[in-house]
Amino acid sequence: MALIVQKYGGTSVGNPERIKNVARRVAQAREQGHQLVIVVSAMSGETNRLIALAKEVQPQPDPRELDVVVSTGEQVTIGLLCMALKEQGVPARSYTGAQVRILTDSSFTRARILKIDEERMRKDLDDGCVVVVAGFQGVDEAGNITTLGRGGSDTTGVALAAALRADECQIYTDVDGVYTTDPRVVPEARKLDYITFEEMLEMASLGSKVLQIRSVEFAGKYKVRLRVLSSFQDGGEGTLITFEDDIKMEQPIISGIAFNRDEAKLTVLGVPDRPGIAYQILGPVAEANIDVDMIIQNVGVDGTTDFSFTVNRNDMERAVAILENVKKHVGAREIRGDRSMAKVSVVGVGMRSHVGIASKMFRTLAEEGINIQMISTSEIKISVAIDEKYLELAVRVLHKAFELDQVGS
Ligand code: ASP
Ligand code: MG
Repeated sequence: MALIVQKYGGTSVGNPERIKNVARRVAQAREQGHQLVIVVSAMSGETNRLIALAKEVQPQPDPRELDVVVSTGEQVTIGLLCMALKEQGVPARSYTGAQVRILTDSSFTRARILKIDEERMRKDLDDGCVVVVAGFQGVDEAGNITTLGRGGSDTTGVALAAALRADECQIYTDVDGVYTTDPRVVPEARKLDYITFEEMLEMASLGSKVLQIRSVEFAGKYKVRLRVLSSFQDGGEGTLITFEDDIKMEQPIISGIAFNRDEAKLTVLGVPDRPGIAYQILGPVAEANIDVDMIIQNVGVDGTTDFSFTVNRNDMERAVAILENVKKHVGAREIRGDRSMAKVSVVGVGMRSHVGIASKMFRTLAEEGINIQMISTSEIKISVAIDEKYLELAVRVLHKAFELDQVGS
């Protein structure tokens, strides 16, 4: 007998039929003798609807009251799922975040979990009950309802699994696992049986939106065994997100190709090459809360240099305005913005022990005539910024060059 936490996302509980389908899955797992804690999202589209509703009444909704409104989506689903379970003869009990007591800080709309009381859930489990908990929400010390940020039900699932020391946390979604890259771009993309936490973090932060990033960090920190599976398919093993040491098979060098379309590049031309310049350029950008990703500063010639960095495309206009101001202060020649950039990354823990990955990546892109405009690397990732119009081609040729289409690669 195992203790399993299962989390079902919005599409998996999108209508009454699907909720009944989830109840059937839960009943099956229970028949196999497992103890089950189920976390659910709001029915698909519901959170968006509630946020829009709030904005109709108050254009900039009060954060405390917004959390009161949006947390209702999940409250509906827990009740409905328990009803569906009871219809199938499965004893079940629903709890809101506050009822379990998922204690969070008081940062409304993006609260962090501090502590989870497990007694109530334990008692129900010991009584043979399935426990159904609302995702995405908690309560602060003063008793205010809080929410954990968009996609936060994943984090609720992982946090409950950690608190209960569950054997596994299963995230059920509308895809059957984590893929080597987006199958809409590369039809040969394969589902991975395993991926390490570090790789998953890189893949998630680079735009494979399977899991809320925070839930992956949480699972890594508390050593929760995490699996992503489809709620629309029977019998699949999904993708297990795990630690490098636990992967017994020969590890591939590269696990996946991640990409992001919404990048923009900003260049400050002809800045004086002296200490403090990078800070004078990026300080005001950071103060405006604009995330900077890749950064390049050229070698100075004649006492001046060029400085480039990338930001999210939505932030480009604001960043240009800031830089025009900086230009006057530091005496730069020109500001340029290019809003048609994309980022492609190869990700894999095997890079630590293999050389030549970067050169293979660059050669592959060169053979297609794709110009690399910026490069950044970490221990397990190499990213390049390229013109957006070559993005799909780049992802396809890299996927092939690193043999990700081949089983057992
Ligand atoms: N319902 C919330 C959202 O749509 C939380 C979640 O689904 O994870 O963001
Ligand atoms: Mg989600």
